Amino acid sequence: MLDLLLLALLVVAIAIGWWLGRLQREPPVRNSQQQNILPRDYFTGLNYLLNEQPDRAIETFIQALEVNSDTVDTHIALGTLFRSRGEADRAVRIHQNLLARPALSATQSDQVQLELSRDFLQLGVHDRAERLLQQLTRDAHDDDMRRSAKRLLVDLFEREREWQQALDVASPQLLRQDEDIRCAAAHWLCELAQKHLEAASPSLARKLLRQALSTDSSCIRANWLFAVIEREVGNYKAEIRYLKQIPEQDRDFTCIILEPLRDAYLKLEDEHGLEQYLHSLNDHTFNTSTVIMIAQSLERRGDRLSAIAFATEQLNIHPSLRGIDYLMDLYLLDATKPQYEQMALLRQPVAKLLEGSPRYRCHRCGFSGMQLHWHCPRCRKWGSIKPISGLENQ
Ligand SMILES: [Zn+2]
Repeated sequence: MLDLLLLALLVVAIAIGWWLGRLQREPPVRNSQQQNILPRDYFTGLNYLLNEQPDRAIETFIQALEVNSDTVDTHIALGTLFRSRGEADRAVRIHQNLLARPALSATQSDQVQLELSRDFLQLGVHDRAERLLQQLTRDAHDDDMRRSAKRLLVDLFEREREWQQALDVASPQLLRQDEDIRCAAAHWLCELAQKHLEAASPSLARKLLRQALSTDSSCIRANWLFAVIEREVGNYKAEIRYLKQIPEQDRDFTCIILEPLRDAYLKLEDEHGLEQYLHSLNDHTFNTSTVIMIAQSLERRGDRLSAIAFATEQLNIHPSLRGIDYLMDLYLLDATKPQYEQMALLRQPVAKLLEGSPRYRCHRCGFSGMQLHWHCPRCRKWGSIKPISGLENQ
C-alpha cells in the first residue's frame, strides 16, 4: 500500500509541474480546453485518492504531470521513488513515457535511459538493461554518464557471474579511478582462478592470482587460494609462505590461517617451527585461537602442565570464554568422576554462549554469519566480511 508521503509528493510535484507549465506558456492566454486539462486530472486523481483507490490516483496524477524541460527531473525523481519502493514496473512506464517525448535534450535522454536500465536491472530483465547500457557506454554525451553506465554494466555482469566481461568493462578506466572496483576486480580474478582450479589448470589459476594481487595487493583471498593450490600439490613450505602473508595483509584474518598452517607444519614434522611462528603472531596481536594452538602444540609434545600454565597466564591477561572452555577440557582429562560431573555442569552454559554467536560480520552492512563469504550476500560488497575479533577473544 502506498503511503501518505508518496501521495503528498505526487500532489506537490503536479502542482509544481502545472505552475512551471503556466509560467512558460506563451501567449499567456490559452484556449479554455487547455487551461482546464490539469485541474480536471488533478481533481480526478484526488477523487480516486479520497475513494481509497491509490493506484488509480497515482496513474492519473502521473498523466497530469506535463512533460517539459523543467519537469523532466520531477518525472525522473518519481521514477526513482517508485523503484526504491520496489515498484520498478511503474518506474519503467514513467521512463518510457519520458523517452517518447521529443522535448528531451540529449543529456536528459541519456539520464532517462540510465534510469530505465536501473529499472530493468531491478526487474531482472538483464538483456534489455544490457542493451541500453552498452549503448550508453559508447554514445553517452558526457564522461560521467559513460562512467555511470559502465558501473551499472559491471554490476549486471557480476549478477550474471560473467567475471571476464565485468573485467573487460572495468578496464582500464574504472580500475584506475575506483578503489571499490579494484577490490571487486581482484575477487573476479579469484573467481576465474577457482574455475581453473576446478578444471585442474593450476598454472592458469596461479597467473590469475598474481594478476589479482597486482590489481589489489590487499586481496587476502588471492593468498588463500595460492595456499590451497600448494597444499593440493603437497608443497607445504610454499603453502605456509602464502598463509603467512595473510596476517601481514590484515591481522583480523589471523584466525582463518591457524588450522591449515598447523596441518602444513605437521606434515613437515616441524612442531618447533609452528610454535615459534605462533609465538611471533601472539607477540604482535592477542588472539585466543593462537593461544589455544600454542597450548595444543605443547600438549602434542607431551607437556600438558606447560600447556595449562601458558593458557592460564594468557587468560589472566586477556580473559576469554573460549580460553576457559579449552582449559576446562584440559582439566577434564585428569579429573575424578565427581570433579568431571561438576565441571560438566559448568561447561554447558559456556558452550551455549559460544555456539550461538556468529563468527563473521560485514563491516559495511552488519550482515553476520557462521561462514566466511568473500562477497557479502546482503550488501554485495566484496571483501567486506571479516572474522569478528571480539568474539574470537571472548
Ligand atoms: Zn554487507
